[in-house]
Amino acid sequence: MKTAVYHGPGKIELEDWPVPEAGSDGIVVKVKVSMVCGTDVKTFKRGHPMFKPPTVLGHEFSGEVVAVGESVSSVSVGDRVTVAPFINDSVCFYCKSGVAELCTSRRLLSNGSFSEFIRLDEDYAKHGLVKLGPDVSWEDGALTEPLACVLNAIEDMSIQPGDTVAVVGAGPMGLLNALIAKDLCGARVVIVEVDAQRRSRADSFGFETVDPAERNPVEAVRSMTGGRGVDQVILAAGAVAAVPEAMELSRPGGRVMLFGGFPQGQTVAIDPNLIHYKQVTLLGGSGFAPEHFFRAGELINSRAFNLSQMVSHRFPLDHIVEALGVAATPESVKVAIVFE
Ligand SMILES: [Zn+2]
Repeated sequence: MKTAVYHGPGKIELEDWPVPEAGSDGIVVKVKVSMVCGTDVKTFKRGHPMFKPPTVLGHEFSGEVVAVGESVSSVSVGDRVTVAPFINDSVCFYCKSGVAELCTSRRLLSNGSFSEFIRLDEDYAKHGLVKLGPDVSWEDGALTEPLACVLNAIEDMSIQPGDTVAVVGAGPMGLLNALIAKDLCGARVVIVEVDAQRRSRADSFGFETVDPAERNPVEAVRSMTGGRGVDQVILAAGAVAAVPEAMELSRPGGRVMLFGGFPQGQTVAIDPNLIHYKQVTLLGGSGFAPEHFFRAGELINSRAFNLSQMVSHRFPLDHIVEALGVAATPESVKVAIVFE
């Protein structure tokens, strides 16, 4: 099978790997679409402690089941599926404490999805496989994983219908957070984005936007909210300097979610009185628990959201390096690797 193998920062080679065999309890999925994630881009550019080369990147995908072992009963050949890139052990402190997104002992798939086939076993499928309906596109199916990450973060934010949410950063995850805040939670969404291309993309999604180079975003959101500030802030930009400002965007008693990851080793000064006197809550969210993945799958299957604008570029696997390059630029939203 054609496989894009990551050999360290800047190095990806297309190699011919053997197609995994189902075995008695296995399921083999032929990948149809694999999205490029910001983590893939970062790993390719500068490495990542979680992904030791040689390995195969890619973890947001959909595909068709092409082989199952004789003991497998819950999944059949021909099923259209999306599969979580990891499942939890279900028994650690965090899994048992209701914060399974912090599980300390995760199990991974046979390889990443920048490859034609992936193997998992039936136990894995029970905890991390969603069957896709016949009308769900491969691209929408491949957005289940990023949607699960958004649902994990949104869950802790108590967004109520009619709330105003500021999303800082209109990259793909900022836009996906904004879509969920608006269409699932019924919030008004204001997007703060410095890049003109991304801002115009957010405009085309129908969101109100603020250009921080033109207008102080704190003043802008206050003028939009009767002087109060927004009820929730989602920081979907990996710049530590944006953290204090995100807290200023919040109204007293509001919540600020640090959704995007930050470069390691950086610190930031914040005014603790925003937390003490103004009771602004600072939250973090990353990854997802199984319930978020299954809920994301239900939402994708119900086609509750129009995700058609989420994919801006498509490449075959042969062009993976180009795809990673485009995904790093503000001209793209999600970049899809489409398999024939
Ligand atoms: Zn666990």
